[in-house]
Amino acid sequence: MNNELICNNLTRNSSGELCFAGRELSPLALKYGTPLYLYDEDRIRERCRTYLKAVKTAFDGRGRVLYASKAASFRRLYEIMKEEGMGIDVVSCGEIYTAHLAGFPMEKAYFHSNNKTDEDIAYAMKYGVGYFVVDNAKELYAIERVAAEKEMRQRILLRITPGIDPHTYAAVATGKVDSKFGSAIETGQAEEITKLALGLSHIELCGFHCHVGSQVFDSDVYLRATDVMLTFVADIYRVTGFMAAELDIGGGYGVRYIASQPEIDIAANIAEVAEFMKKKAVELQIELPEVAFEPGRSIVADAGLTLYTVGTVKRIPGYKSYVSVDGGMTDNPRFALYGSPYTIVPVKETVPEDAEKVSVVGRCCESGDILQENVPMLKDIGRGDLLACLTTGAYHYSMASNYNRIPRPAVVMLAGGEDRLAIRRELPEDLVALEV
Ligand SMILES: *Cc1c(COP(=O)(O)O)cnc(C)c1O
Repeated sequence: MNNELICNNLTRNSSGELCFAGRELSPLALKYGTPLYLYDEDRIRERCRTYLKAVKTAFDGRGRVLYASKAASFRRLYEIMKEEGMGIDVVSCGEIYTAHLAGFPMEKAYFHSNNKTDEDIAYAMKYGVGYFVVDNAKELYAIERVAAEKEMRQRILLRITPGIDPHTYAAVATGKVDSKFGSAIETGQAEEITKLALGLSHIELCGFHCHVGSQVFDSDVYLRATDVMLTFVADIYRVTGFMAAELDIGGGYGVRYIASQPEIDIAANIAEVAEFMKKKAVELQIELPEVAFEPGRSIVADAGLTLYTVGTVKRIPGYKSYVSVDGGMTDNPRFALYGSPYTIVPVKETVPEDAEKVSVVGRCCESGDILQENVPMLKDIGRGDLLACLTTGAYHYSMASNYNRIPRPAVVMLAGGEDRLAIRRELPEDLVALEV
């Protein structure tokens, strides 16, 4: 079955064992224990370079790429982003602090969130976050107030809702008019907040932002969104005289969790978007603002893999079979949240075509603690065998919890044949560390 090697960093060696980033997996499981998050650092760097090169090429040397760090946020990743020359999105004090500790140049950080508290705002300014992406008018006033106290001018983008439905999961669609994010063009609130921002003395309006959704495969979505946004930029210019210097069109390019999903050609997609935007700008008789992309998932997802050890295998005759692993919704809540598809395979050998299908489940006390249904499985799978869940680099460690007081797994970076611990495994002692 060739449906398992869904990214070119996956192979099987001569004895059939699954390898990731050129490394055999069982020695890593032995060395670090399971569950274990592995990252292919070379793949992360390759993805950053693909984006940066594509944007520079398509937009004639201009343009920015910001890694949406909510996909996976820890020090080592911010160091990589710094080394690769990426900007970043941050959404909380925790992300800001982590990026700061990694020595990330914070003037290249963009602060998102639909609800920044006064504390968040002051914190971000203290750490020199370059841009705030402002969600609404009340927040704008709050930023003005804190910036005035600090006697500074804060650069901002305004988050605009273009009214685009990206036809993806409802939970990850964010560009529709009724979204909790941003100010809608359709309701007039987008124009209103732009005028407000232009009137504030501690605010420097640099441009606009939109983000239509996540796990998007249709390039059409970005064409529709940029069409609406550029028209808005032109309308604002005519009404107020303000010409946006920046237009951030968000993230959302899809990745391959299962073989039937396509692999998106990022460079070709960006080239198509750029060509469309240039034409549209000419049509609207405006200069094209500097364009920013904010990929999260597509930078880190297929650079990640989770290793589990099988425990209980339960066959309920006439019903279904369960294979339980030593992790679950605590390290991967995405099936429970969105019903997300995954490829889960035994490490020791490829599953034959006509294999039995099982439910791979976690160890939490929840019936919904399922990693995936209908997973083709080896007949002899049993206690102690390793399973790999593929494409787990995005929204896994960052969404991990301690439900049932399960300690979170370690994170190990693989690079140039070396393995290096980025985050050690949590211990029960860590879980009580905050209790006073
Ligand atoms: C989540 C998010 C992104 C990244 O989305 P991906 O699907 O991970 O690429 C980019 N921008 C904003 C504002 C986001 O909220």
